[in-house]
Amino acid sequence: MKIAVVGTGYVGLVTGTCFAEVGIEVTCIDIDKQKIDNLKQGVLPIYEPGLEEMVVRNMEKGRLHFSTSLAEGIQNADVAFIAVGTPPGEDGSADLKYVLAVARGIGEHMNSYGVIVTKSTVPVGTAAKVQNEIAQALAKRGADIDFDVASNPEFLKEGAAIDDFLKPDRIVVGVASERAEEVMRKLYKPFLLNGHPIIFMDIPSAEMTKYAANAMLATKISFMNDVANLCEIMGADVNMVRRGIGSDARIGTKFIYPGIGYGGSCFPKDVKALIKTAAENGYEMQVLKAVESVNEDQKSVLFEKVKRHFGGELKGKRMAVWGLSFKPKTDDMREAPSLVIIEKLLSVGCEVVAYDPVAVHEAKKDLGDRVTYASDPYAATEGADALLVVTEWPEFRSPNFETIGALMNTKVVFDGRNIYDAQEMERAGFAYHCIGVRTSH
Ligand code: NAD
Repeated sequence: MKIAVVGTGYVGLVTGTCFAEVGIEVTCIDIDKQKIDNLKQGVLPIYEPGLEEMVVRNMEKGRLHFSTSLAEGIQNADVAFIAVGTPPGEDGSADLKYVLAVARGIGEHMNSYGVIVTKSTVPVGTAAKVQNEIAQALAKRGADIDFDVASNPEFLKEGAAIDDFLKPDRIVVGVASERAEEVMRKLYKPFLLNGHPIIFMDIPSAEMTKYAANAMLATKISFMNDVANLCEIMGADVNMVRRGIGSDARIGTKFIYPGIGYGGSCFPKDVKALIKTAAENGYEMQVLKAVESVNEDQKSVLFEKVKRHFGGELKGKRMAVWGLSFKPKTDDMREAPSLVIIEKLLSVGCEVVAYDPVAVHEAKKDLGDRVTYASDPYAATEGADALLVVTEWPEFRSPNFETIGALMNTKVVFDGRNIYDAQEMERAGFAYHCIGVRTSH
């Protein structure tokens, strides 16, 4: 089979590369010439574990191509994925201008039957708009070419994207014709061999499934953060409560970790978009509104703890920050809670020394030289009045606190991800603050 993937960001690049990996001929297309030129040299625009090696290998095998030309990439494609961004518009709804521009382009250049698949996260009804754009573009050039649209939302997690794509929990495909179902089943066959399920449904349900999944995950996070804050007030330990409730199979152990709020390019925008879609259709998503509001507050929780600890005297304090990306194993800084925390620290006159294994170049786009970037985690703590753990990178899990204690000006740790043991920290002579546990400091 031959496919085109339009939009070579996190989702497009992983999608294209993983299909090439199973032997499909793939052209990844992007309007960003620099990105495509770099990819042709094996230089990736993003950090994703294992991806670079896979891109280079598949390029060398001649199965993975990169191009800025939609006209060229779409020729004879059995399937064309639209994987461009759907950022929030000013009112919170998903901005479809990139998706529809690509649909138009496909209609202008396709030369044979193909299934045009939205992989981007798009509101219910978008596939119908895509269909319309393509049909209009075809009609304009007087071309009589048959095509189908389909919805195939992507559930990969940044940081584990390759595994998620190659060994998915499920593949959701919305179709409106048997022919499209047949093509999509054939395309995904290599991924189904080990029992990974493909779930076919109608297109609106597939479009809704993606939003419902992300909204549910965001809800788990905000719910747990709400419980954590109450635990702290009442003298309960959220780490215990988490274990206690997670052992109930109906609740489960995953995604119930308290922290400093969700971020990233998906949860915030998808929750907003679903609230907006509902409102446009006369329905109020009451739970999701609360999810959003808890999340906004939660991004300030760590800063408030810092403020309390220092009695509001923060001017001139040197703060070490570990972790900048919105979660570990990615350089994605979109809506990262670290940005909110650092802005607050800077606004009260703190000096911030940050360390992140991969996200510094992305962080600099927002923070510039207002922050000092350390080359390793220990260097960041030198002379620091406090250490804030913001992203739970594996390398932060078991540091040498004796060394850190000797480097720091005062031994205080604010753990936004609850990765340390309170008693151990106390034994090591640190004042330790985490989420959802009352401390005496
Ligand atoms: P991204 O910003 O990393 O990539 C989008 C790419 O599309 C960019 O490289 C951009 O240059 C390109 N583009 C824009 N207009 C174009 C056009 N007309 N022709 C060709 N290329 C064009 O975005 P992303 O994170 O990959 O997300 C893409 C979609 O997938 C979004 O709808 C997102 O919600 C969804 N999604 C993202 C994730 C994730 O973890 N990042 C997971 C699941 C779903």
